Amino acid sequence: MKREKLLMTPGPTMVPPSVLKVMSAQIIHHRTAAFVAEYEQLEENLKELFDTKNMVLMFASSGTGAMESAIVNMFSPGDKVLAVSIGSFGDRFAEISSVYGLDVVKLAFEWGEAADVNKIKEILDADTTKEIKAVIMTHNETSTGVTNDIEAVGKLTKDTDRLFIVDAISSMGGIQIKTDEWGIDVVVTGSQKGLMCPPGLAYASVSDKAWEACEKSTLPKFYFDYKKYRKGFLGQGENPPFTPPVSLMLGQAEALKLMKDEGFENVFARHASLALAAQAGVAALGLELLCAQVNSSNIITPVKAPEGIEIGKVIKTMNEKYDVIVAGGQKHLKGKIFRIGHCGYADRFDLARGFMALELSLRENGYPVELGSSLAALQKSLG
Ligand SMILES: *Cc1c(COP(=O)(O)O)cnc(C)c1O
Repeated sequence: MKREKLLMTPGPTMVPPSVLKVMSAQIIHHRTAAFVAEYEQLEENLKELFDTKNMVLMFASSGTGAMESAIVNMFSPGDKVLAVSIGSFGDRFAEISSVYGLDVVKLAFEWGEAADVNKIKEILDADTTKEIKAVIMTHNETSTGVTNDIEAVGKLTKDTDRLFIVDAISSMGGIQIKTDEWGIDVVVTGSQKGLMCPPGLAYASVSDKAWEACEKSTLPKFYFDYKKYRKGFLGQGENPPFTPPVSLMLGQAEALKLMKDEGFENVFARHASLALAAQAGVAALGLELLCAQVNSSNIITPVKAPEGIEIGKVIKTMNEKYDVIVAGGQKHLKGKIFRIGHCGYADRFDLARGFMALELSLRENGYPVELGSSLAALQKSLG
C-alpha cells in the first residue's frame, strides 16, 4: 500500500482537503460581485494575520517575486541599504538589491546563527549622515532553521526615516508577527508555507512610511508596481489590477478561514509546541540541532547529520520507502544537515509519522537507533 506523500518540507507544505476542494471548482470571473466578496474577506483576514491596518497586496508569483517587488517599489538606483543575512534567503534579498543597483551594505552571520541586533545597531548608529535608507532582513531563515528577532530590529528603525523590510515567507502563519506594533514597513510572504496553500501567490503589506518611499522610488516596475494595486483599494482602479490566480485566491481564502477558526494565537502555539517536540525527538536520537535551541525555528527544525552517515541516503529512504519528505541542507550545508518541517497544515500525528520514518531510515542507513525513543520523547513533550 502506498500512502500519500507527507511533505515535512519548508515549503511547499501540505494543503488541507477543504482548500483542495475549493480550488477544484469551476472558475469564477474576477470582475464579479461573487469574486469581490471573497477577495475582500481574504484581504481582511490577511490584515488580521499580519496584524496590520495597512493594505496587503497580492501578486501571482512565488515569494521571491514579492521580495523583488519590495526592492523595486521602495528604492532608486544607488540607494544605500543594510542587508542582514544569516543564510541563503538573506543572501537572496541582498542579491536582488544589488541586481537593481542599490548600494548594499551586507551584514552576514555564520549559517546557524541568529543576527546580532547590537551589530545592526552599531552600523546604524555609525551612519550619522543617515545614508542607509533601510534594513532588509529575513524573519525565519529557512535554509538554517533560525529565527531572527525582528521585533528588536524594528525598534531601531521605527521612529526614524529608515524603512524596515522583512522577508516572512516561511514564518507568516506559523510564527506571530506584529507588523504595525513592531514597525515593519514591508512584510513579504508566499502562499505555500505557513499559509497552507499551493505555491503561486505572494503578498506584501505596505506601511504609510513605505508608501511615501514608493512615491520617490524611480526603479522601473510594471506588474509589481504597488501603486497600481493601491488604486484598486482606493476605488480608483480595478482590483486586483491584473487577472488574479482566481482558484488559488479562493483556496487561500478558505485556508485563512481554517486558521481563523482555529484562532491565529492557537495556530502559532501549535507550531511552537511541534517545534519543542521535534527538538525533544532529535535529542532523544542523540542528534544535535544546527543552532542554539533558543534560535531554533518554530516551523522547521534543523538537525546536524550524524558523523559517518550519508544523510542524503537517509532522506532518500524516508521518501522512497516511507513516503515522508524532509529537506536536506542548502549550499555549503548540503550533506551536513537535514531539516524537518512542521509548518502550516501539520499536527502531532504528522510529526510522529515523520519521526517514525526518520528512526527507521536512520537505522537502515547505519545509525544506531533505539526504536521508539524519539516517539516517546515527542509524546512526553506534547503531553
Ligand atoms: C521559501 C522562501 C523564499 C523563497 O520563496 P519562493 O516562493 O520559493 O520564491 C524566500 N525566503 C524565505 C525565508 C523562504 O523560506
